[in-house]
Amino acid sequence: MYPYSHEPFTNFTEEKNIQAFKEALAFVESELGKHYPVIIEGESITTEEKIQSINPANKEEVIGSVSMANQELAEKAMQAALAAFETWKTWSPEHRANILFRAAAILRRRKHVFSSYLVKEAGKPWKEADADTAEAIDFIEYYARQMLSIKEGVPVKSRAGEYNQFNYIPLGVGIIISPFNFPLAIMAGTTVAAIVSGNTVLLKPANSTPIVAAKFVELMHEAGLPKGVLNFVPGSGAQIGDYLVDHPKTRFVSFTGSREVGCRIYERAAKVNPGQIWLKRVIAEMGGKDTVVVDNEADLDLAAASIVYSAFGYSGQKCSAGSRAVVHQDVYDVVLEKAVALTKTLTIGNPELQDTYMGPVIDERSFKKIMSYIEIGKEEGRLMTGGEGDNSKGYFIQPTIFADLDEDARLMKEEIFGPVVTFCKARDFDHLMKIANNTDYGLTGALISNNREHIERARQEFHVGNLYFNRACTGAIVGYQPFGGFNMSGTDSKAGGPDYLLLHMQAKTTSEML
Ligand code: GLU
Repeated sequence: MYPYSHEPFTNFTEEKNIQAFKEALAFVESELGKHYPVIIEGESITTEEKIQSINPANKEEVIGSVSMANQELAEKAMQAALAAFETWKTWSPEHRANILFRAAAILRRRKHVFSSYLVKEAGKPWKEADADTAEAIDFIEYYARQMLSIKEGVPVKSRAGEYNQFNYIPLGVGIIISPFNFPLAIMAGTTVAAIVSGNTVLLKPANSTPIVAAKFVELMHEAGLPKGVLNFVPGSGAQIGDYLVDHPKTRFVSFTGSREVGCRIYERAAKVNPGQIWLKRVIAEMGGKDTVVVDNEADLDLAAASIVYSAFGYSGQKCSAGSRAVVHQDVYDVVLEKAVALTKTLTIGNPELQDTYMGPVIDERSFKKIMSYIEIGKEEGRLMTGGEGDNSKGYFIQPTIFADLDEDARLMKEEIFGPVVTFCKARDFDHLMKIANNTDYGLTGALISNNREHIERARQEFHVGNLYFNRACTGAIVGYQPFGGFNMSGTDSKAGGPDYLLLHMQAKTTSEML
């Protein structure tokens, strides 16, 4: 087995790659409108109630539909997963990992097709879609290897006449609730991490991006995953989300999404229900209010570029998005001016076109929420560029910069999850750090500085799970920059990190007298 290294991004300056991507887009176009069933124990179940997935860049275009599971089907899926767990947990780590290696190989072969689904269903521009697919491949490759590396457990001491062992065993049935913003990478990563460590799962994908998840479930079965290990249960949070989180046989919940839903899950999962004989585990990856901090000794072009790309990549719909720029007063005006100028060069529009930098936001609800924050921003700050939205064809919002926000303004504290960045001026480095840490969150952050002492201070003081120096605060790579945050950003479960699988396992000590 070759050592893990991350999947390279596609070079879209090469004509052959451009052609291949266009062909994949055309292929996906020809597949639009298909229906995808609920999958329980490998069996396809078509239901009356369906979720229609639409293209956020073109509301008229239906990507496809998925059947929705009701409580009865959720229960059936739970029973299937419980039964499958009894055999799946006895599979050797090698055999489980082999299925992941096959899955990664298939996904690599169909890379552009999956990316094209991300373009169509999630409104991702080519590069963002390509990075999402690459990250999915990375998660699969990385977690398969990680399982192999922990299969022997960790050595412990034995005294004369005794033999002690310390091993990890799986937990049981997990509920995977995945987000729309990385509908392939995070969905696949959270699913395969649970599976390769010997658990069985019920996957409830985001309701705005269920098709790419359905495609992935097909792929996993093609790769040889036994029936019942991965059950696909699209559905509403109110109908089946709560039901499954509350279920006494649920052993853990792996959730990525909003703070509101994450807190709800955490609270519900804490309650021990009749028939339940364990305390549930919750892995939660929630929001962020991430900051790019600019020092007075800094490369100001790099600062502007880092702010703009952190803020507007995938229309700011990343929990890692840099939605705040906190800038030293000495360089504030220059950085602001450069960021505004750079933002004005960004191409906004149809993500199917290769040169589009930013596509739509995901749906009407997001559109309205972001637009209402833009209205608040007009009162709290000075609109520098953008500020307008158009939801006539798709959900488009211009990349928007507000200047001169008070450090305690709502736009400086609340997660918007859209293409809006707020600028705030700081007096000195102490003040920069104080503002950087003044939210409920603690996911990512960046410091743009050439001052060594300040870099070392930020390393200590800037309280975020992923801290970057002299670069953007998005784009963590699996196995290189394990990803997860502090405080209200979640349980600091570092996805793509060396201890991630252990969150899905429990340790067993055995001690034998010789
Ligand atoms: N891992 C992604 C990044 O580093 C963000 C994931 C998310 O937004 O949920 O940009």
